[in-house]
Amino acid sequence: MDANERREILSAILDTTRECVIVANKDSRVSGWNEAARRAFSPNSSPDGRRISEVLRDLELHEAFGRALNDGLESEIRLEIAGGERKFDVHVSPLDLGEDREAIAFFYETTRLDRLEIVRQEFLSNISHELRTPLTSILAFVETLEDGGIDDEANNRRFLGVIRRNAERMNSLIADILELSQIEAGRVAVEPTAVALGSLVNEIFLALGTKANSREIKLVSRVDPSVRVFADIQRLEQMLVNLIDNAIKFDRTGGVVTVSYENRGSVDVISVSDTGEGILPEHLARIFERFYRVDRARSREMGGTGLGLAIVKHLARLHKGDAAVESALGQGSTFRIELPALAK
Ligand code: ADP
Repeated sequence: MDANERREILSAILDTTRECVIVANKDSRVSGWNEAARRAFSPNSSPDGRRISEVLRDLELHEAFGRALNDGLESEIRLEIAGGERKFDVHVSPLDLGEDREAIAFFYETTRLDRLEIVRQEFLSNISHELRTPLTSILAFVETLEDGGIDDEANNRRFLGVIRRNAERMNSLIADILELSQIEAGRVAVEPTAVALGSLVNEIFLALGTKANSREIKLVSRVDPSVRVFADIQRLEQMLVNLIDNAIKFDRTGGVVTVSYENRGSVDVISVSDTGEGILPEHLARIFERFYRVDRARSREMGGTGLGLAIVKHLARLHKGDAAVESALGQGSTFRIELPALAK
């Protein structure tokens, strides 16, 4: 096989590779490339024959090609292009096809993985922080009890109460985190059936009635008894409990929480509205993110984990639907669950 044949085979293989690949000759000019590399690094013109340093201005990459061409050495480097928007692990090694040694570089894009890694780290650090807060409180009150508080008859039960509340908080946090990770790992299957929405809403109102009463909040269902939606009943209940519970929590004293239903062609929309203070536009866009809370201290005080809406969104998407929110400051918020409608 002569050098040309070898080059043709190489070129055919490179074209089947999804990773970007560039070959440089002894003058550090591009002598081979694949379509992925052209698109990523030289979108407007052919890279053929151009200097590597022109196609990709990166000193480390330039040196890695130098080491491969001059010393026959392999290198691994990190490369960022477009101002850090795209990131690559690059493997550069010598390539002997013909008379003169060349160098070949494989670019493994890590942009997406890097982003996921950041999300994962943020999540972990959020979890640690969220768990530490109640734990610190528990430890402090245990110490107080140990230091004599246990004999302080006027307060010892109150100390125990604080410990219990914080332990319960940790418990619900862990339950929510586990739930979320189960859903994200695809281990939660939804089994949709035709659900009588009206009775489900009434049951949830019954369960949350005491809480609503304690703040003189009226619970109103505008769902017609004949309405059927196509959903996994337990998961739908979980979504609605989350939304109605939030609506009660964030409504004003004496407010109204209304659940309604509307069919919009191929989509069924279930809305939960409150008459609370509403949510500022800058928060609206992020409110379904895990641990995102408008007022951290207030949410904690009310026993919130900051994960409820993230779970609602995930569950709605598992149904091939979605969750959304609208709000007018001073007038209240409306959270919607959108589900694919039952075929008529
Ligand atoms: P939490 O456990 O804090 O309720 P969620 O994920 O359920 O967590 O909600 C996230 C945040 O969204 C809440 O802390 C609150 O700031 C805001 N929020 C949710 N529902 C409402 C609502 N009906 N009215 C106003 N703000 C709301």
